[in-house]
Amino acid sequence: MAKYKSCHGIEHGLVFNGVNLLTYCSLTRSQEEGGGEPQFVNSYYGEIIDWDAFFKDRQEKREYIKTHGMLPQCKNCIYLEEKEWSGEDKLEYILITNYIACNSKCTYCPMPDPKNSKLYNIVPVLKDMIKKEIIKKDGRIEFAGGEPTIYKWFNEALKIINKNKFQHIVVNTNAIIFSKEIYNGIKNGVLEMVVSLDAGTKETHEKVKGVKSFDKVWKNLDKYSSVYKYKEGGNLLKTKFIIVPDLNDKEEEIDLWLQRTAKTKIKNVSLNIDFQWIFTNTENIEGMKKILDLSDYFILKAKEYDLIPDIYPNIKDIHHRYNKMVPDEKKHENKYCT
Ligand code: SF4
Repeated sequence: MAKYKSCHGIEHGLVFNGVNLLTYCSLTRSQEEGGGEPQFVNSYYGEIIDWDAFFKDRQEKREYIKTHGMLPQCKNCIYLEEKEWSGEDKLEYILITNYIACNSKCTYCPMPDPKNSKLYNIVPVLKDMIKKEIIKKDGRIEFAGGEPTIYKWFNEALKIINKNKFQHIVVNTNAIIFSKEIYNGIKNGVLEMVVSLDAGTKETHEKVKGVKSFDKVWKNLDKYSSVYKYKEGGNLLKTKFIIVPDLNDKEEEIDLWLQRTAKTKIKNVSLNIDFQWIFTNTENIEGMKKILDLSDYFILKAKEYDLIPDIYPNIKDIHHRYNKMVPDEKKHENKYCT
């Protein structure tokens, strides 16, 4: 083991991204000075991967970091961490986000136009990774999108992962479509699901998501959660709220979302902020303060409803930047940042 500054993506990750790239992380439109997303391959269409070449590339990146401090793409990234890294040649995290079409039209969606993405089948490469034991059995296999449930090979991919007894599968879905495979994964305790609601009322939900789906989503969430058993340290069901300033940044929206979540068996709730707002509001002290106050409110209310709150790193980053910009008497109290 060696101690140096690196990140989980470089050390253990692989991302099948939405514009036919294989990358080490998924910081699309990153605010990092280097732009993020170091690449392994820049035009990928589902071929079997040359794993020797992949692990050689990873090792070369590690050596570069040890001598130069970081990759040029990673400058100022909040995910860099100085610690002992194992150097192991196994994947602990894969993100399958090669499918970017969606049945929602969320205002904050950072996905590029699906026309810029060529669709491919993930199943052959997934089978190859499983056969060659490239992914650790306790590793995290995550689906994002676009919307995974409308990806042609989603059910087949999930079936294979389930069959091979991976224990930590994560699906980010808008839950407009009910998926029997997701339901079974939840029932068997091996699947984690994250659903971004972004509103407490039907009207605001429609404004943020761009489609009328509020009732359908809650109907599906009620079904999923009916077979869910919360276990500390286990796979979680989460609802999420992405703050979109001037659209849903209201205490009552957060309150109603939490109240509705508390009526199900779901215990975990997350708060995030629209990525694009961050990039265009780096000097907006008042705006940042509002986000931080809403985050405090979210934590307070979640606890009141016996839910487990979680704040995304983007908001923690706003907290650090805000406190650097204001005088001592205006500093925001740290309620959630480590
Ligand atoms: S941009 Fe950040 S998350 Fe991505 S590889 Fe670099 S340090 Fe890791």
